[in-house]
Amino acid sequence: MERLRYFDHAATTATKEEVVKEMLPYFTLNFGNASSVYSIGRKSKKAVENARDKVAHAIGAGSKEIYFTSCGSESDNLAIKGVAYANIEKGNHIITTKIEHPAVLHTCQNLEKQGFNVTYLNVDSEGLISLRELEEAITDKTILISVMFANNEIGTLQPIKEIGEIAKRHKVYFHTDAVQAVGNVRIDVNNLNIDLLSMSAHKFYGPKGMGALYVRQGVNFDKIQDGGHQERNKRAGTENVAGIVGMGKAIELVYENFDEYNKKLTDLRDYYISQVEQRIPYIKLNGHRAKRLPGNANISFRFVEGEALLLNLDMKGICASSGSACTSGSLDPSHVLIAIGLSKEIAYSSLRTTFGTDNTKEDIDFLVNALVEVVERLRNMSPEYKEFINNNK
Ligand SMILES: *Cc1c(COP(=O)(O)O)cnc(C)c1O
Repeated sequence: MERLRYFDHAATTATKEEVVKEMLPYFTLNFGNASSVYSIGRKSKKAVENARDKVAHAIGAGSKEIYFTSCGSESDNLAIKGVAYANIEKGNHIITTKIEHPAVLHTCQNLEKQGFNVTYLNVDSEGLISLRELEEAITDKTILISVMFANNEIGTLQPIKEIGEIAKRHKVYFHTDAVQAVGNVRIDVNNLNIDLLSMSAHKFYGPKGMGALYVRQGVNFDKIQDGGHQERNKRAGTENVAGIVGMGKAIELVYENFDEYNKKLTDLRDYYISQVEQRIPYIKLNGHRAKRLPGNANISFRFVEGEALLLNLDMKGICASSGSACTSGSLDPSHVLIAIGLSKEIAYSSLRTTFGTDNTKEDIDFLVNALVEVVERLRNMSPEYKEFINNNK
C-alpha cells in the first residue's frame, strides 16, 4: 500500500495537533461542568466563552450571537426549524434550493409534512441560483430564505451578499449553510446581511461532533431540544467543553493563515484541473470555473463508473469521493449533479477531489498519473466507449 493521499477534505479533515493539544486538558484536569459554580466549573465556562469569542470574531459576529451545537447538521436543523416554529404566526413559506445538503433538504421536507410550504429553487448548469427567481418566489407568507454559501459537491459559491440584500429588503430572515465556506472563504455576516449561519468544526481541522450556529441579535427563533438552560436557553445539554475549545482554536488558526492557505488550495485546484484537461479526453468540469471553493474540483470522466474509479484509486492509497450516493447505500445519482443538468450516466462518472493543507503539488501529480492509467483501463473495458470510438473514427 502506498502512502495515504487524502483528497476528501470536504468530507472531513484531520484535527490539527495544536487543536488536540488545546482540547486535552478539558477531558481530564479541567473536566468541570461549565454550569457549575466551583472553580473547575468556572474554568470550563471561561474556556467556552473564550472559544465563543474566537468563533464570533472569525465571522464578524458578536459573541452573544453564537450558539454551540453538536454538528453542522444540528445547526441547520436549529436554524430552519427554529425560525419556522417561532414565526408560524407570520407565515409558513420557506425558500431554499435544490442543491442543499441533506441536513437542509430533509429538514425542509420534514417541515412540509407539518404544513409548511417550501420552494426549492433551480440552479443553472454551473450551480448558481437566479436572483430574479428568488425574488419572485417571495410572498407575504415567506419567513425564511435558506441558501447554502458553497456547495459541498461542486464547490459553487452563491451570490450571498445579493441574496442577503434581497432578504433584507423583503424583511425575510436569511440562513446560509456555510459548513463548506467557513475556513475557505472570508465571511463577514454584517457585510453579507446574513441572519443565521451554520458551521461545523471538522470541516476546518477541528474536532468532529462540534458545530455552531450564528443567529443575529433580534432574530426570532425557538429551541428545538428541551432540557437545561445551556446556550442561553436555545440548546439544552451539558457543553462539550473540549470540543468547543477545539473549535475555537481551529477557526482561529485557519483564519490566521487564511491568505497563504487560500492561495495554496487555489493553486493546487487549478493545477489539478489543468492537468486533467490536458491529459485525459472526454472529461467535464462540474460547477462554476471561477466562483468555486478554493480546494474543490469535481470532474466527470465519461464512460467510467465513479465507484469503480474510487475503488481503483483506493488501491493506490488515494481517497476521493464520487458523484453518486452509493457509499451511503443508495444507488441514486447525486441530486446536485442532476440539478445542474447532468444525465444520470455522466453524474455517475464524476469524481470529487477536495484539497487541503497537507496536500502538495507532488500529490497532485501522483493523483493525475493514477487517473490517466485507471481511466484508460476502465474505458477500455467499456462497450459504450468502444462504440463511441468506432463511431468517431
Ligand atoms: C458536512 C456538511 C454538513 C453537515 O455537517 P456535520 O457536522 O457533518 O453534521 C452540512 N452542510 C454541508 C454543506 C456540509 O458540507
